[in-house]
Amino acid sequence: MLYVSWDPVLVGISFLVAFIASFVALDSAAKIAASNKSAALFWRIAGGATLGIGIWSMHFIGMLAMKMPMMMHYDLAITVFSLLVAIVAATLSINIAVNVSVLSVKRLCLATGILSSGVVVMHYVGMAALMMDDAIDWNYGLVALSVIIAIVASGVGLWLAFSLRLNSKGALINRMVAAVVMGIAIAAMHYTGMSAAEFHDHGQYMSDMSGGVSELGLSIWVSAVTLAILGIMLIISMIDSQLRTNRLTENLQQLNQQLEQQARFDGLTGLANRSQIDLRLESCLQQSQLTRTPFALIFMDLDRFKLVNDAWGHHVGDHLLVSVANRISACLSPKMTLARLGGDEFILLVPETTQGDVEDLATRLVESIRRPFYEAGQILQVSLSAGISLFPDHGKTLQELKLRADTAMYNIKQQGRNGWAFYHADMMQKTWEGAEFLQDLTQALEREQFELWYQPKYHASSKTIYGFEALLRWRHPSKGILLPDVFLATLENTGLIIPVGYWVIDQACLQLRHWADQGHQDWSLSINLSAAQFEQFDIYDTICGALSRHAVPPSRLTIELTESTALRNLERSIEILNDFNRIGITVSIDDFGTGYSNMLTLKNLPARELKIDKSFVKDIRDNSKNVKIVATIIDIAHSMNMNVVAEGIETQDQQQLLTSLGCGYLQGFLFAKALPAKEIPQLLAQLESNKNPAVSTRTSAVIQKKQA
Ligand code: C2E
Ligand code: MG
Ligand code: MG
Repeated sequence: MLYVSWDPVLVGISFLVAFIASFVALDSAAKIAASNKSAALFWRIAGGATLGIGIWSMHFIGMLAMKMPMMMHYDLAITVFSLLVAIVAATLSINIAVNVSVLSVKRLCLATGILSSGVVVMHYVGMAALMMDDAIDWNYGLVALSVIIAIVASGVGLWLAFSLRLNSKGALINRMVAAVVMGIAIAAMHYTGMSAAEFHDHGQYMSDMSGGVSELGLSIWVSAVTLAILGIMLIISMIDSQLRTNRLTENLQQLNQQLEQQARFDGLTGLANRSQIDLRLESCLQQSQLTRTPFALIFMDLDRFKLVNDAWGHHVGDHLLVSVANRISACLSPKMTLARLGGDEFILLVPETTQGDVEDLATRLVESIRRPFYEAGQILQVSLSAGISLFPDHGKTLQELKLRADTAMYNIKQQGRNGWAFYHADMMQKTWEGAEFLQDLTQALEREQFELWYQPKYHASSKTIYGFEALLRWRHPSKGILLPDVFLATLENTGLIIPVGYWVIDQACLQLRHWADQGHQDWSLSINLSAAQFEQFDIYDTICGALSRHAVPPSRLTIELTESTALRNLERSIEILNDFNRIGITVSIDDFGTGYSNMLTLKNLPARELKIDKSFVKDIRDNSKNVKIVATIIDIAHSMNMNVVAEGIETQDQQQLLTSLGCGYLQGFLFAKALPAKEIPQLLAQLESNKNPAVSTRTSAVIQKKQA
């Protein structure tokens, strides 16, 4: 038997090559997931080929590390064949395992079979290239062990490549660790395989062997291949970074334009929307403060619009809204801005005006709507109630002016509708006095009628719960459970949101404490912050106080705010959000895509989560433009190292599409609606008994029904 020794440096290099090749393969897998079709094809081939070359090169450097007391020669054709086997097997298996959104066990087994067979064939064909066949005695136990290691290593490696393909936070470190594991596994297979061979000297090998490639030749060869791997990897990552930067810049510009369009205008009527009118109001206020010219704010609401909707359907209702918008627009001059706030509510900004002019205008508006409409073969009769506030007579801030125009409008409604009125100090008392609603709302907090309900957020890949979002509910004594769309605007307009918000923060931290006590230390909880709350000077202290009062680690808490809230006073937001971020609270941008949607500005915020608004998810199937926008948002968010949550997932199709686009987290009625805390164990039990998310939806629907 020949005495065999090992060169530790070459053994080290062989492992390094295995590690680099594994890393490139994992990195390419990530690029497959994040690229468009043609780029993905490149990564599928480049990643597979590099892994193949790497495994092969590792093997030969490993052979080179083995020192025998003779010159060894290799058969060139067999050596090249073994390289091809490795490349084909690695490329095929990467394509089978990574280029999918869901990796089934069947697929993983198939890919593992191909890769491990490739590795084993490559290894033993490579050994056959060693031109000393009859000088090797095989230890079949160790051969079998090397095959088992190859199968396990391939399976684990491919599974890691699939699991780590999304660029979530810390992905780079995870890939490094995974590459070390894969590198060790590849090396283990090789050295086990090598030790399965016992080399004998029958005399003839000590003498000259003609043909084949010598050890010296091999070392040059393998060095060249190793260098090629490093080179390929370097070029791959450079090209990719360059392409990515170009594409991101391009997409960012396009996306910003599209989002700006969507963010500023109402989809139905083409009028300005709430965020656009807010911008106009802001600048009009500033202008008027400088020039001391009055301006007017008119709130308008159609009377009995709901009846039209109920009687003729939403389709006719929508037509009517468009016609109403047109009639109102026809009465306006170019300097005025008309916006639709949603439903049948409109707001009109009349800059540089006088009381007399506004009176004329309001009269014309009410008259124009009183004339019958002809929609879808029906004659429809509606009317308009309008409330007006004037700057500076009725208020110095936009909030005051809005609340007062709103009050004047409600006053008209109470007086029998179909008309207009200027705000008057008496109205505030009268209008809201009658409004039981406001009175009820004012007392709801002290009467402990508010509740937090919890909607789960899921990992897209494993469909397991990682946390919840706390959503406010008002248990009204006579109306039952009310959702925020009924009362949140009033809470915000009246400033009641501040005390209620404090309660929410405290309650959320208390709930986190309960969950931790029940063994769910890993669950996170998101709370929503309104602009007015976020602007409180002590918001940071309030949140920290609640966390420490209930002994909750800050990393469990997420605060969600909309981009318009965050961008309102950017410098202060950056400062406060940095403070939150520093102590480990996750900052999340909610309803992304509905506000100002400036991804460039977003870059300055230390947000770690982006929630794509449900309006994008709603018609993502039939609207390919939305698919593109969402894909770009996800791409850009990942490049900023943000996690992406899609909210409003209602169908399996949406779930699959969003998952395939690389969205890491999902929330929506498909999984579960918001539930009171005490019903969460039921949801968990359901999830446990049936992993199918559709079942949990049915359960939650039943739960919601029971409560109604
Ligand atoms: P949000 O933060 O975007 O919360 C998500 C809303 O979408 C929730 O409505 C949730 O019930 C609803 N939702 C979730 N999944 C689906 C789905 O699959 N389909 C549809 N159609 N809707 C879905 P909710 O509870 O009515 O809350 C509305 C908004 O009120 C929230 O929007 C949030 O901005 C605000 N809000 C809720 N709770 C609080 C709170 O405690 N404080 C503040 N300041 N705002 C709150
Ligand atoms: Mg939210
Ligand atoms: Mg949202």
